Amino acid sequence: MDKILKIKTRQVFDSRGNPTIEAEVYTKNASASAICPSGASTGSYEAFEKRDKNNKNYLGKSVFNAVKLANKKISAKLKGLSVHDQERIDALMINLDGTRQKSNLGANTILSISMAAKKLSAKLKKIPLYKNFLIKKNFSLPYPLMNIINGGAHANNGLRIQEFMIRPDKAKNFSEAMRICFVVIKNLSKLIKNKGLSTSVGDEGGFAPMISSNNQALDLIVNAIKKSGFVNGKDVSICLDVAANELFKKKKYSIHSKNFISVEKSILEYKKMIQKYKIKSIEDPFAENDWFAWNKLMKSIKKVQIVGDDLYVTNLERLKKGFLNISSNAILIKLNQIGTVSETIDVIKFAQAIGFKTIISHRSGDSEDTFIADLAVGTNSNQIKTGSLARSERVAKYNQLIRIEEELGKKARMNMIH
Ligand code: PGA
Ligand code: ZN
Repeated sequence: MDKILKIKTRQVFDSRGNPTIEAEVYTKNASASAICPSGASTGSYEAFEKRDKNNKNYLGKSVFNAVKLANKKISAKLKGLSVHDQERIDALMINLDGTRQKSNLGANTILSISMAAKKLSAKLKKIPLYKNFLIKKNFSLPYPLMNIINGGAHANNGLRIQEFMIRPDKAKNFSEAMRICFVVIKNLSKLIKNKGLSTSVGDEGGFAPMISSNNQALDLIVNAIKKSGFVNGKDVSICLDVAANELFKKKKYSIHSKNFISVEKSILEYKKMIQKYKIKSIEDPFAENDWFAWNKLMKSIKKVQIVGDDLYVTNLERLKKGFLNISSNAILIKLNQIGTVSETIDVIKFAQAIGFKTIISHRSGDSEDTFIADLAVGTNSNQIKTGSLARSERVAKYNQLIRIEEELGKKARMNMIH
């Protein structure tokens, strides 16, 4: 048995320059490490992120208390457990924490250890990480949802919608998917430059030009797709993450302009947008508690992927509620929203059993850790959202998928969307 010897954690920094936690799990002869990511437009039902609020030296953002807890309390608790018994490891940490949102130990503390244990287990079994999830026997590569224009909480340009993404629907393999996105991004860069706008990038690597209307961003993307020789809505589809929690006040939404309008009117605007720009996927079109609006949208539109992110926060109870309410047909999966690998896998399994698409996602504050690339393949999730082709913490995940595709060789399949 490969028994856990100790846990060692430390404070490192994420892609936004904020402190985060890195964990190392040790057995007698081996170790593996993992880094926890961090969001900006977080849902209020997400698991708790532990930070030293009173440490002025780090503006309240350091994670030294989390590090102390992990190195002493959690390390002592996990010592002697089999590193392959992921469910037991996670359950012990959940019990030690004892709260609904992991507010004692912090989901960041727990998750970094949980991911590191999963990696170490794969290493000791001498298998690649993606083969250590064992959901299905055949592995498929996900379609990338590349966030090529950043707005909302991820940029300071005034764009209301947070993420404008492209998905290369006709790609036959992952490398081809990457090539298609690469060409569209290069053409988009030229178009933005020609307008005299900046091609600097936002938190997730997408361009963040100083434009403030959604339609302006969408027109730029449509032109970039065309200029690249692809057909919008066929070869390449435009997908959005509205992150509507940030655009909600007194039952009204300011998604389409600065004016707040009703759910009914917002849906009409969505319909126009879907038709004009052939939008294929919309994430968080409404706020996290507005179940009525989600259901109304589902009833009003067809053939559009509706994705719950802040709505579900990778939480099984909320997913079940959303399923019964007919709120969406897809779920975004973020490990740190729930805080352990085991709970994340349970949510993915349930979502796939009820016919929901599962989209594995990074956070806007991320790191060089490529765990989610393996998670996407290992769980046959047919899409991954991990930023644009810029900023190495984003590109690292795509590069890992290229390696996995190469290793799978002829067995590599793309998981068809339609
Ligand atoms: P976040 O953004 O990581 O800042 O929450 C990503 C998203 O909303 O999907
Ligand atoms: Zn989102």
